[in-house]
Amino acid sequence: MLLENKTAIVTGATRGIGRAIAIRFAKEGCNVAFCGRSRGEKMIAVEQELTALGVKAKGYVADVADMEQAQAFVKEVLADFGKVDILVNNAGITDDSAVKRMTEEQMDRVMHTNLGSVFCMTKAIQPSMWKQGYGSIVNIGSVVGIAGNYNQANYAASKAAIIGFSKSCAKEFAARNIRVNVVAPGFVETEMTAEVPEELMKTWCQRIPMKRPGTPDEVAQACVFLASDMCPYITSVVLPICGGMEDA
Ligand code: NDP
Repeated sequence: MLLENKTAIVTGATRGIGRAIAIRFAKEGCNVAFCGRSRGEKMIAVEQELTALGVKAKGYVADVADMEQAQAFVKEVLADFGKVDILVNNAGITDDSAVKRMTEEQMDRVMHTNLGSVFCMTKAIQPSMWKQGYGSIVNIGSVVGIAGNYNQANYAASKAAIIGFSKSCAKEFAARNIRVNVVAPGFVETEMTAEVPEELMKTWCQRIPMKRPGTPDEVAQACVFLASDMCPYITSVVLPICGGMEDA
């Protein structure tokens, strides 16, 4: 198993891509601490699913875009699990609108959640990874952060900023054997994309050479690779998982 005896934090794993990452990691023997913003049925179900795979797993309530909550979350995980080898910053939101109609509030909210959470969690985890001289941080970006997209200027800006932030951290942390990489999914079928009208979905799929959306598990598999010891010399990369979309 590729992640045996490792412990990971996955943010936003109550559903979608985060949940798929948590499950893949558990299948690879990794203990998993994950979070969402409330302890609902979904969090409990994920906890049970992971535990059934034979690893230690626990769901925590934390808004990871809030520095105090991120710090408290990491502190609790370190107390419960003893160490954290891997951090996957997956939590993210959209609030789409054309720029001419986009409010400042929409811009701020998306930047605050998507970029702010990566900053808060990186700050919170850095001291322990630094001390242990080992760590892999995988930040979930988006191909939209590379290519831009209609009605998603706020989201694209937040995901582009994650790339700049990650590459800077990769440089700062490399000497302590802490790798920082970005996985940039294309169009993946989750609750986040469920509201996309069918016609628009078809148009998007036409732009994908593989002619289909990706699955959460296909993103999760790339995260396993980057989180694992299979790539000890890979840091600062942006890995698109997008079925060959040309503008990615
Ligand atoms: P979902 O909306 O299905 O899930 C988002 C998850 O993040 C939920 O578990 C949610 O939990 C959690 N979350 C949101 N905000 C916070 C917060 N502030 N603190 C803690 N948890 C939070 O999204 P996806 O699975 O589709 O997306 C996951 C990631 O992948 C995102 O970063 C997204 O931008 C990215 N991505 C998705 C693509 C897609 O096509 N689906 C394409 C490219 C990138 P809760 O509501 O319980 O708090």
